[in-house]
Amino acid sequence: MRAAVVTANSDGNVEVVERNIPEIKNGEALVEVEYCGVCHTDLHVAAGDYGKKPGRILGHEGVGIVKKIAPDVTNLKVGDRVSIAWLFESCGICEYCVTGRETLCRSVKNAGYNVDGAMATHCVVSAKYAVKVPDNLDPAQASSITCAGVTTYKAIKVSKVRPGEWIAIYGAGGLGNLAIQYAKKVYGAHVIAVDINDDKLALAQEVGADLVINSQKEDVAKVIQDKVGGAHAAVVTAVNKVAFTSAVACVRAGGRVVAVGLPPEMMELSIPRMVFDGIEVVGSLVGTRKDLEEAFQFGAEGIVAPIVQTRTLDEVNAIFQEMRDGKIQGRMVIDMKK
Ligand SMILES: [Zn+2]
Ligand SMILES: [Zn+2]
Repeated sequence: MRAAVVTANSDGNVEVVERNIPEIKNGEALVEVEYCGVCHTDLHVAAGDYGKKPGRILGHEGVGIVKKIAPDVTNLKVGDRVSIAWLFESCGICEYCVTGRETLCRSVKNAGYNVDGAMATHCVVSAKYAVKVPDNLDPAQASSITCAGVTTYKAIKVSKVRPGEWIAIYGAGGLGNLAIQYAKKVYGAHVIAVDINDDKLALAQEVGADLVINSQKEDVAKVIQDKVGGAHAAVVTAVNKVAFTSAVACVRAGGRVVAVGLPPEMMELSIPRMVFDGIEVVGSLVGTRKDLEEAFQFGAEGIVAPIVQTRTLDEVNAIFQEMRDGKIQGRMVIDMKK
């Protein structure tokens, strides 16, 4: 099989290599990958930002068809279309796993990070953690929902925004674009999109943003406070700390700021602002299997439509560079059959 693996010196790029199709163990299934989206987290893993992982097959935004199951697997059958998500597997018995917070499990395994992922023609999944893709959902779009979609759907859920309230989405790229759609079309919120790129803001408007603000041209928090009296919630998908600081300033009293983007810095947080105005700041990490099932279903119903462009596995380093340069609209998805 062909696979995109982290280079020996974890320099931020990958190499496409030939590998043997992996064997499956109890509880596992072998999946023939159809599509795998490219996520910002892949850049971090390739660069060794979370520890060097030379030889690791990247990819946690995959979908494919089950080709083989271990004898003890009962929840999947050959021919099913399933996800290959960041949550490869958790322990299933800890405090987090039994209270609906399995992504926080301390012994979690992550696809494309500490186990091999979906940026390959074949991939192993832990059967109980592979979520079935609805029949009427386009598989390339489904791959984008497997990370970007579920991450933003969950973040909107965590924001506790209610119908008719205002939510600010910082970053209108691969994540932000989906966050806007889930906030607007599923949660019934009024959406403000914030980005530095006018093209991304135009796309944000197309998918449902009520208000767009270019943060290089305007004081975002001031505009939001002046125009709507402050947002009820903010979700930050942008990968810079300025956005996080602005998000805290843009919400009204009692507002909630949800951190999703992962800049490796500290954010500024005024303690008096937090105390006097009752501001909450909370992180949100991908989503559970249940969240992914829900996020898929809204895609299958056409309520949310990921914007995807298909590419080939050989283009993966070029895609990485476009991502670093902020040039990508929506999501790049690798078509494993090409
Ligand atoms: Zn991801
Ligand atoms: Zn656990």
